[in-house]
Amino acid sequence: MLLTITYTGQNTQDLGYLLHKNPSRPQEFALNYGKAYVFYPEVSDKSTTAALLLDIDPIDLARGKVGSTDGGLFDYVNDRPYVCSSFMSTAISKVFGTAMSGRSKEKQELADTPLALTAKIHMMAAPNQNMIPEIFEPLGYTVEIETFQSDDKFTRWGQSKYVNLMLSGTVKLRDLLNHLYVLIPVFDTQKHYYISSEEIEKLLSHGEGWLKEHPKCEYITSRYLNRRRSLINKALAQLIDEPEAEEGEQTEPKEKKLNLNQTRLRSVVDEVLASGAKSVIDMGCGEGNLTRLLIREKQLTKVVAFDVSFTALERCKDKLKVDRLHETLQNKLDLFQSSLTYRDKRFEGYDCACVIEVIEHMDISRLTAFTRVLFEFAAPGTVILTTPNIEYNVNYEYMKENTLRHSDHRFEWDRAQFTEWANEVCEKYGYKVEIKEIGDSDDENGTPTQMGIFEKQDMRMVVDAV
Ligand code: SAH
Repeated sequence: MLLTITYTGQNTQDLGYLLHKNPSRPQEFALNYGKAYVFYPEVSDKSTTAALLLDIDPIDLARGKVGSTDGGLFDYVNDRPYVCSSFMSTAISKVFGTAMSGRSKEKQELADTPLALTAKIHMMAAPNQNMIPEIFEPLGYTVEIETFQSDDKFTRWGQSKYVNLMLSGTVKLRDLLNHLYVLIPVFDTQKHYYISSEEIEKLLSHGEGWLKEHPKCEYITSRYLNRRRSLINKALAQLIDEPEAEEGEQTEPKEKKLNLNQTRLRSVVDEVLASGAKSVIDMGCGEGNLTRLLIREKQLTKVVAFDVSFTALERCKDKLKVDRLHETLQNKLDLFQSSLTYRDKRFEGYDCACVIEVIEHMDISRLTAFTRVLFEFAAPGTVILTTPNIEYNVNYEYMKENTLRHSDHRFEWDRAQFTEWANEVCEKYGYKVEIKEIGDSDDENGTPTQMGIFEKQDMRMVVDAV
């Protein structure tokens, strides 16, 4: 990770005074996960370059679990130690903090003067690189972007998401440093720190004097705050001097979550009906929110529901008011206690099975047993299964770092993991799956819920096809 800043003009060695770093003496700084070095590869009257080099220790990183996403191999094999990302911002503020504030004991006048400066950011992680000019040009920079193929030997892999970025302009050094501090993480989708409300303070103080008027103010704010909607709203409210939401007012993610339950149940009922099913089994029915909707559908002549939890079933009976149901509905409905991880004859013979927000409550080691019980032994024509999409969790402000949506969740999958599991199931047990998204979508992380609709394939057709 390397950032260089070049000052051209006259007496350019003064850059050393502005940065508070002596050009004749390389310096080393300890960071949480490695070291930063400042040195000057070029010093002359006409042009002086300061370099900030970061040496991040990949093992420290993996052990500290910062920048990690899945706790697996990704912790060890990733781009974090090698690309200009949020680590660079942290280093800039640590190493050039005084310069960022615009103070200079020896050269205050120079610190307050726009200078001919060029910053080069080597290997910046920028999946959204088409936005680079739109972000830097309004700040007065000429932007040059050097792009690369992902791999020269495999051109079909397309363009790499890493770029070398060169920004030139006549700006105050403190402005350049503040721009870099805020904007490098805007392009980095994998920040190494937890985004909390403290980040609003940082954004507002480093964005002072330029962010509010920036034509992409909202985009920058949203990316900097990792798309956490409630933080973004707070920050934008402060930027445009609007009063914040009252304390205790419901935050948007919670509101969305309430709606999400209903949206999910509606989507499931629609899929059950679309499958043409006449009989359905609600597996892990909990308090029976889905069951209640299903029994009222005329197309369905049999609705069966079970749960492993006795208490959940009791609550389900209460909520459905089983004793007071109309006789036709009573005859249609069956409730019993059982577990999805053990084979049970009572699971067999239904057109459709719904497994709604259940698998994440099982130990992952029991998933193979569950898969066999459902797809091999019960083997209904259609399975509708939903589970959270962990990628979307960044939108829930109330969630703490490294936690799941519910204290009883044993795991949550990202979209790739769910798809991989679903495809394996299909291959093994002769199903075909269509994956759909449920809930509001955020442009990078998808929707809060993912749903798989599995259709059992007619084995004769499969054989014919082969
Ligand atoms: N499907 C319901 C409830 C989801 S909560 C709904 O969408 O509203 C998850 C439920 O799965 C809980 O009620 C829990 O008791 C049940 N569950 C967890 N492990 C189970 C298992 N092995 N067999 C059956 N149910 C299980």
